[in-house]
Amino acid sequence: MARIAIGGFQHETNTFAPSPADYPAFEAGGGWPGVQYGEPLFAAVAGANIPAAGAIDALRAAGHQLVGTAWAAASPSAAVTGDAYERIAGELVKRLRDALPVDGVYLDLHGAMVSERFDDGEGELLRRVREAVGPGVPVAASLDLHCNFTRAMFAGADAFVAYRTYPHVDMAETGARAARLLDGMLRGGSRLKGAWHGLDFLTGIPSQCSFIEPCRSLYADLAALEKKFDVSLSFTPGFPMADFAECGMAVQAYGTEARKVEQALGELRARVADAEKDFALDLHLAEDAVARARRRGEPGRPVVLADTQDNPGAGGNGDTTGLLRALIGQRAEGAALGLLIDKDAAGRAHEAGQGATLAFSLGGKSRVEGDAPFEGEFTVEKLADGKFTCTGPMFKGFRMTLGNMALLRSKAAPGVRVVLASRKVQAADQEMFRHVGVEPVKERILALKSSVHFRADFEPIAKEVLVVKAPGPALADPTEFKWTKLRKGVRLRPLGPEHAG
Ligand SMILES: [Zn+2]
Repeated sequence: MARIAIGGFQHETNTFAPSPADYPAFEAGGGWPGVQYGEPLFAAVAGANIPAAGAIDALRAAGHQLVGTAWAAASPSAAVTGDAYERIAGELVKRLRDALPVDGVYLDLHGAMVSERFDDGEGELLRRVREAVGPGVPVAASLDLHCNFTRAMFAGADAFVAYRTYPHVDMAETGARAARLLDGMLRGGSRLKGAWHGLDFLTGIPSQCSFIEPCRSLYADLAALEKKFDVSLSFTPGFPMADFAECGMAVQAYGTEARKVEQALGELRARVADAEKDFALDLHLAEDAVARARRRGEPGRPVVLADTQDNPGAGGNGDTTGLLRALIGQRAEGAALGLLIDKDAAGRAHEAGQGATLAFSLGGKSRVEGDAPFEGEFTVEKLADGKFTCTGPMFKGFRMTLGNMALLRSKAAPGVRVVLASRKVQAADQEMFRHVGVEPVKERILALKSSVHFRADFEPIAKEVLVVKAPGPALADPTEFKWTKLRKGVRLRPLGPEHAG
């Protein structure tokens, strides 16, 4: 039995997004449990599809004694404030020091955190953790598939394992895999050999989905190479919205034999490089996507429109109105859009009461370029308190507290309904609609503020999925961002132009 410290600090930073992640954002959690310190973190993550939960179960099953330090996550957004970073990282490291001596450390990290002070939030955190425990203690971490892997991260831990599904249905399983690598090091008494390579192109997140090519095949190849070479492999396509030098794709390998690690890594890297052209993606303008969905959607087989550029899971605030405008402008029938995050409008709906018809100014509060509030009359069809538990494959077991929620029906286009919520979360679970009385499968058109995660729960009921390009801060084509710190020479999209630096 070993004594192992458990911690976690997750944030996916879109440096181009409108709002920062301050300490209250980590207290709210944005769909995740709120920030936790010490022993309570075990209960807070238990039973959910969360990496730490999987790691904790695996380590306990292996007979280890666990010490909780700190665990925190917030909705993706602009940089983590210096205050939030120092409070959470500071508490994690302080509690780790108080827990010493420990035999090992497991950390639940995202890998794409930028703080106001540190471009590489995880690299700095790992540096502090290593400083606290010393060189002799193995450290293993799980990572999001959207991590931007860096030199400092690689140097800061003995092993990393990333999700291999997007939608991330394997978060808990990935934590368990990281835990098994840590357990192996503790039992074997020796450290793993590791290696990694970066790749020199970026790709928008909609084309990183593991349900579609090329990622479907790449992750199958990865699993086959792991078996062939007896190593642990990861492929992280990256989060192409963080403006810092090391943003981008990478592959990582860990094993007991350096030669096998290098061979497996080389093969995986070559396969990703060969697949570059397959990462190109079709994007549809809102007007075109709505027109097609009106023709093709039917109750029982709705057409799903992914409002990818306002995805709260990639730094959007979930309040842009481009797609809503197109649905109402074309008087779509059987259409539901969600979640539109607007605390004021949801509050107004609750004040007015069920059945009331009144003028609303919906969304547009983030002042994203090209976007504005949508003005119109709506009837309040249903009110709800925003407290429910998710049931879909990705968010299963997550307990949502989204504040006031409401279902509105457009007066100008009575076939269009809008699901309002007060706190932002990505529309990736059907319960978010059922909570206000909408049964998603009965609609003709579902407009979702999500890039890919919705696919786990919604693709099985969808006739087809169209990825829509409407105004928002989570641009699907990385060439459109105004990069200032990105390294020179990286291609800004598959087969695209090289960044001039
Ligand atoms: Zn992710």
